Formats: sequence, C-alpha cells, structure tokens
Amino acid sequence: MTLRLYNTLTRRKDTFTPIDARDVRLYVCGPTVYDRAHIGNARPLIVFDVLFRLLRNLYGADHVRYVRNITDVEDKINARAAERGISIAALTAETIQGFHADVAAIGCLPPTVEPRATDHIGEMIAIMRRLVGSGHAYEAAGHVLFHTPSMPDYGKLSRRSLDELVAGARVEVAPYKQSDGDFVLWKPADPSSPGWDSPWGRGRPGWHIECSAMSWKHLGEVFDIHGGGIDLIFPHHENEVAQTRCAFGHAAMANIWMHNGFLQVEGEKMSKSAGNFVTIHELVEGASFGGRRWPGEVLRLAMLRTHYRQPIDWTVQALEEAEKTLDRWYSLAEPVATEPQAEDASGWLDSLADDLNTPAMLADLHRLFADDPAEAVRGARMIGLLQQGPPAWRQQRRADLGINADRIQRLVDERLAARVAKRWADSDRLRDELAGMGVLLKDNKDGTTSWDLNGRSAF
Ligand code: AMP
Ligand code: ZN
Repeated sequence: MTLRLYNTLTRRKDTFTPIDARDVRLYVCGPTVYDRAHIGNARPLIVFDVLFRLLRNLYGADHVRYVRNITDVEDKINARAAERGISIAALTAETIQGFHADVAAIGCLPPTVEPRATDHIGEMIAIMRRLVGSGHAYEAAGHVLFHTPSMPDYGKLSRRSLDELVAGARVEVAPYKQSDGDFVLWKPADPSSPGWDSPWGRGRPGWHIECSAMSWKHLGEVFDIHGGGIDLIFPHHENEVAQTRCAFGHAAMANIWMHNGFLQVEGEKMSKSAGNFVTIHELVEGASFGGRRWPGEVLRLAMLRTHYRQPIDWTVQALEEAEKTLDRWYSLAEPVATEPQAEDASGWLDSLADDLNTPAMLADLHRLFADDPAEAVRGARMIGLLQQGPPAWRQQRRADLGINADRIQRLVDERLAARVAKRWADSDRLRDELAGMGVLLKDNKDGTTSWDLNGRSAF
C-alpha cells in the first residue's frame, strides 16, 4: 500500500516514507484555549484524526505518535480572563474540559500526547539560547527576536519573498527590530500577566516558539508530518520551520506539511458579526443550526464528504444528507455481527491512501454496502463512523425526533388487538391517531403489523 500525501512544501502529492516505520510521527497545531472550538476548528481535528487512524492502520497502532498541543499562554487568554473576571487558570481549565468534550463528540481518538505550552518553557528557552548563540536571534528591549535575513531560505514553505511576507503578515514595525520581517520569540511580561524567568528577563513566549518546543520535546528535531489549517502556513508554520531548522541545523523540520482548506457557513465566511458563528458544542447540544441538535457522527460525515484541501460549505442540507446516509448505513449494518478486522479492503483503503480522498472512499462504501456490508462497516469504522451499535443510534435518533417508540408500539398493539376482535371503529381510531404522529402502518399477510415513521423504517 502506497500512501500519497499532498505536501505544501513541494506543492505536489509525495509518496509518504516514514523516517522510522516503527515510530511514525505527526504534529498538529491545537487550540488556543480561551473559547469553545467552532466548526471551522473541527475540520483539522477530524481530518488529522482520519490521517492518524489511517497511519495506525498501515503501520500498527503502537507505531504512530500523534502530538496535538494546547496553547495555554496567549494574549487572547489574558484578555478573556480579565473580561470575565476569572483567573487564567480557571479559564484555561474550563476551556480544555469543553474542548475534550467536543473532540470526543465528533469521534476523534485522543492524540498520543497532548502537551501544554506552559509545561515547555524550559524547551523554549533552550531553543532560543541556541538561536541567539548562532546569530539567528537577538535580544532587544527585553524581547528575543528571530532575525529572518539570517536564514537564506526563509519563506520556502509559503513561497513568498521576505518583502511579500512582511507585507502579508502586517508585522508590527517596532524600533527595536533589526529587520521588518523579524518576529518575536519572547516578550517581556508586566508583573500582572503570566511570566517566566529567562536569561532575557521575566517574560512570556510568542506563539510560534511554543510549537517548535513541543514538537522537539515529543517528536524530535525532525519528524514526518506537520499539519494544520491553511491559514497557518504563514506566518505560524513558516516561523516554526525557521526556529526549528536554525536551532538544530537540519534541512527540514517535518518532511510533509499538510493543510486543510477553510470552512464557511451557508456560503459565507463564519464570523460573530455575521451571526453565523457556530461552535461544535452548539451543534451537538444546542438548537442554533437548523433549529436542532446533530449527532457527532453526522458532523464528521458531513465534513468528510468534501476533500480536505477543498473549501467546504457547511449547510443544514449537507447535514441532513449525511444523517440520511448514516440512517441507511446503520440499518444495513444491523445484520453485521462480527467485530470488524482488517482484511480485503475492496478499494476504500486505496482511496483513503490517495491523499485522504474521503469523497471517493465514501462512494466506495456506498457501493460496498450493497455487496459486502461487513467490509463496508469495516471501512466506515476506520474513519470513525458507525462507532455505536445500530440500536444505540436508533434510540438516540428517536429521542432527537421526540419519538416515543414504546408509546407507538403500544398503540400499534392495541390496534392489532382491536382488529383481531373485529372492533373496527377502535381499530380505525387508533390508525388515525398513529397517522397523526407520522406513523404509517403496514398490515402483513401473517397477521402482524409493522410501522414506519416518515418513510424511515429504521425508526
Ligand atoms: P485557531 O484557534 O484560529 O488557531 O485555529 C485552530 C485550527 O483551526 C487551526 O488549524 C486553523 O487553521 C483551523 N481553522 C480555524 N478556522 C477555520 C475554518 N474556518 N476552516 C477550517 N479550519 C479552520
Ligand atoms: Zn503550531
């Protein structure tokens, strides 16, 4: 099986060859914990979870290390804690707890390691010492800055010249900078905000250095795959590359760089001011999108219907379609008794191994459900779908639809009894009552009655 992945560094699909097939290493930038994750944030979470699952399938679950960090020191965190009048520790603890609930709801496996920035200040200082020592960084006015002209191929990942980069990043022009494109590794902290002692005084890290420190600590100086959303290519990933490569002297930080495309909502950029900002939590628990809650697997399937590098439009219609698909797949999965095991993958694995082509893979599964449901279930489970038993799915769906299945069954039974006793008026009254609930009855030749709700026999 050849795994091919589109590499932002080379701008083509590269064949994936791990540095060590017994220890495949993946890093993905995680959340800054000041607020609940929105559905745009769910995209990299789901996409790289699928990659993690695929790598585990190909190399063995014990031979893949997935690191997804938590950024728990940032200006936005300080500002939000002050705004809410709570401590930074309380805000980050609450947000991390919510984040864990959200990723579980959308079916993501826990990463192998979930490091927190504030536990890695020592590694950040070690990297900065190296950079200052080798002339790639300098101290100025209590800051430590990376000197971009010191790195001849700075800008290689985002393929922009330094001039373009400076303009694109709208970097703050500060008098203490030697060059406009220089970026902050460490900045002074006033006594009221979080800070750590360092050789350059009490301060706190910039965002980019955090990921260089955590990936180094948990994956080493060079690792296999680095991922994140497309907006992170510049400046965040470009600067991670600069720090890590210049600190350790390798030609690469990660061999493959993967970036997911952006998500918009009903054709528009998601924003608080546009009123279309939707969190994972609201989708799975609330009624703010399409007026109802949605099962986590519906969100996951809706996300995977679009290839991860394409933009995705998040619509109520797409969620309804994904839900219908799951209703169908769960009913087809019902007779599949055995716990799935990897065998003949009938094409779906090839689709997935072709740069995570999930739309092609889902088409494979649609076909396969007709011929070999056990194999189709295996494929669906591999990408984090059909994670519960069909009865559990049905029960949840009925609860969501406000269907009281026991009550329906009782009325159906009463009507059957009325028919058997030839009490036709009672039988007709019960039939009408059920019809009013959307229940259609089918009287079978063998004297039994089955029912169907709004055309969905699974319920
Ligand atoms: P942030 O909290 O903005 O740093 O984002 C966390 C992750 O979510 C990063 O990988 C972002 O690239 C990604 N992300 C943020 N907004 C979107 C969006 N609308 N669509 C897709 N990915 C997004
Ligand atoms: Zn990062």
